[in-house]
Amino acid sequence: MSKQKMKCPSCGAEMNHHADKVDYTLALNEPEAVEPDLGGIVEEVHTCPKCGATAVRRA
Ligand SMILES: [Zn+2]
Repeated sequence: MSKQKMKCPSCGAEMNHHADKVDYTLALNEPEAVEPDLGGIVEEVHTCPKCGATAVRRA
């Protein structure tokens, strides 16, 4: 469960894992990546403590 911290694309600071979201739109294009229990693709939302930028990556 140890994933690398995400770096802010704007200022390079380490971002905080803010939330998880489920994307149902992507699931239509990538059915093999779908979590069967959720019916969508799980993504992590990260926020930057320095500049407030947000970024999303696949969980
Ligand atoms: Zn930043």
